[in-house]
Amino acid sequence: MIKKATTHVNQNEGLIFERSRPGRVGYKLPALDVEAEPIDSLIDSKLLRDGDLAGLPEVSEVDVIRHFTRISTWNYAVDFGMYPLGSCTMKYNPKLNERVARMEGFAASHPYTPDEFAQGNLELLKELEDALAEITGLAAVSLQPAAGAQGEMTGLMVIRKCLESRGAARKLVLIPDSAHGTNPASAAICGYQVKTIKSNANGAIDLENLRQVVNEDVAALMLTNPSTLGMFEENIEEVCRIVHDAGGFVYMDGANMNALVGVTRPGDMGADVIHLNLHKTFSTPHGGGGPGAGPIAVTKELEPFLPFPRIIEEKNHKGERVLRLEYNRPQSIGRVRAFHGNYAVLVRALCYIVTLGPDGLREATETAVLNANYIAHHLKDVYEVAFDGQPMHEVILNDKRQQKTGVHTLDIAKRLIDYGFHPMTVYFPLVVPGAMMIEPTESEGREELDLFIDAMKSIAREAEADPELVKQAPHNTRIGRLDEAAAARKPALRWKPAKTSSAAGRE
Ligand SMILES: *Cc1c(COP(=O)(O)O)cnc(C)c1O
Repeated sequence: MIKKATTHVNQNEGLIFERSRPGRVGYKLPALDVEAEPIDSLIDSKLLRDGDLAGLPEVSEVDVIRHFTRISTWNYAVDFGMYPLGSCTMKYNPKLNERVARMEGFAASHPYTPDEFAQGNLELLKELEDALAEITGLAAVSLQPAAGAQGEMTGLMVIRKCLESRGAARKLVLIPDSAHGTNPASAAICGYQVKTIKSNANGAIDLENLRQVVNEDVAALMLTNPSTLGMFEENIEEVCRIVHDAGGFVYMDGANMNALVGVTRPGDMGADVIHLNLHKTFSTPHGGGGPGAGPIAVTKELEPFLPFPRIIEEKNHKGERVLRLEYNRPQSIGRVRAFHGNYAVLVRALCYIVTLGPDGLREATETAVLNANYIAHHLKDVYEVAFDGQPMHEVILNDKRQQKTGVHTLDIAKRLIDYGFHPMTVYFPLVVPGAMMIEPTESEGREELDLFIDAMKSIAREAEADPELVKQAPHNTRIGRLDEAAAARKPALRWKPAKTSSAAGRE
């Protein structure tokens, strides 16, 4: 571990336990007007466990505020700078979305509110379902799944249920070798065997290979378009036809919808089911494990199998249009999540869609694709681009040219931190050795893209001139290069007072 002798206050923040001083508090309570209760009685009555209070830091208000504010400045955030993680679509999230999601009528309404008193909330859900149906070109949407991966599982359950209603659930799900790891996991959870299909040299599905493997055992093909290699699947209609002719379904992983929204629609291409990652494409903050949403859109044929309740329109006794939650759905796969999904995420998504409008959504897509191509164009002479052809909203480089100096993808990513950028996605997709996957999104203006390009070019020069500098990066951060295997396998998560020294627990 490199220990730096920096004296900057931000860089030297220890653990909050180290600030603890016996008897120091951050509150002043009025005099007790009831009889004092010894704390042990709370432990006896099981309201507290023995040891619950032991070892809590004794600190003042200013201790707490300074501690957490200082460590918050060590975090990288999309509000701070570009976040070029490929596959993640880390776009900037307009603050208006947050304001709207916090409005009391949305944030404080109870999910058990009777339908007649929750018309506004139901209207929001219905409007979002309709918008997503239009954007995907499919007939019906369920907002329930809490993330992309759960959307995949839900979509495959819907396909399975439909196939069972036709007579047999079938056995196989076909998945290209470039797929996100959640795809085979979802298929396995739904009881399917996964058969991997190979991409051709351009990263596209090999049609001949597909024709050979599709048969009456195939329940579905799961594919991502544009693929995880950042390329549009040009034969998508033919791919769908081959699968449909054999009685299977096409599940499209919609994590890359940022390359398509407002320009083209998966339903028009032949997809039967797609999930959307609202926390990627539709502007909900993510990356810190916060809640997401993975709604699925399906064809008319699959609608009866969607999770319940469904939102339906009716006329009330006065003949007015009202919305109601319908639970009587005999063919439904059932619920996949409590209540109505991650509601605040749904509010943000609709706010984003409505504020941009159809033209704005299309422009966002076009800008996202332009930005990725701008980066590809300016870096292609310095780093090897993994695939020929035109990338969509993300570009994949590799470290082939740098390897001869001993510098690898991981080193380049770490060095990028010194230049003030979050690293790109590395070593994914798995089919590209040394992959560096870069997705700038539409949020970045030209100045920011140029800074990023400059940083990447500068790192390439450093790799030639001073490879050790790159291999030992980062240098400008509080903590230098970590042993990542040890950090993952032997994490020090507990602070042990007995062993305290001033540097305890900081490594
Ligand atoms: C992010 C992603 C997923 C999984 O989505 P989560 O919302 O993280 O569960 C699936 N496929 C691809 C291609 C992705 O990028």
